[in-house]
Amino acid sequence: MVVAAVAAGAFAAAAAGQTLQAATTSETSSDSDRVTPLANARDASAAFGVGGDTPAGAPELLPVARTTDASAEAEKLADSAQVTEERLQREAEAARKAAEEAARPKTVAPAQGSFTSGFGARWGTTHYGIDIANSVGTPIVAAADGTVIEAGSASGFGLWVRVQLDDGTVHVYGHVNSYSVYEGQRVKAGEQIAEMGNRGQSTGPHLHFEVWTADGQKADPRSWLAARGVSV
Ligand SMILES: [Zn+2]
Repeated sequence: MVVAAVAAGAFAAAAAGQTLQAATTSETSSDSDRVTPLANARDASAAFGVGGDTPAGAPELLPVARTTDASAEAEKLADSAQVTEERLQREAEAARKAAEEAARPKTVAPAQGSFTSGFGARWGTTHYGIDIANSVGTPIVAAADGTVIEAGSASGFGLWVRVQLDDGTVHVYGHVNSYSVYEGQRVKAGEQIAEMGNRGQSTGPHLHFEVWTADGQKADPRSWLAARGVSV
């Protein structure tokens, strides 16, 4: 009977995180110390819910312990689900942006207004661009994606903006009243870069738009735009 009780105590002590050695030692001792492990074992049994005759309080501890484990598991699963959800959202956002990028026009008219003058011979000289007339302040947008290589004053044009495309083509926007870009800035087709003006050698508010090919030739902007689906 005593051995069984001690064995139970040893089991409980082990369960309680104590060493078996402690219980074994008490088993072999013959003095009053023997009582102590039994009392401790009972306490441990009660505290950790191990053993047969546990007090009423013990069963309450077991579900708590299980709930804690379950909570940790649930938390891990929730974290995992959260990570997956965030990844899916990032992928969806990337796909949406890619579709948007693919759908946006890569060439647009540089300004809205009246086409007043074309490329070629004019008044005994050569007009190297096209003129689109409208009121001062009318938005001027980048006709294509590119990098601003110059924004400032220019002889004859008053103020101009020059944008270089990735293929080396340069777009010139002349007579602008003001500009809102800086050298080195990346611009996209349709992005406002300036406002229409009447500066320099100009006979009225208009945009003078030129297209310089990569090898320095001045091309007909109307043809260049038309070849990319834009009519002015
Ligand atoms: Zn012109």
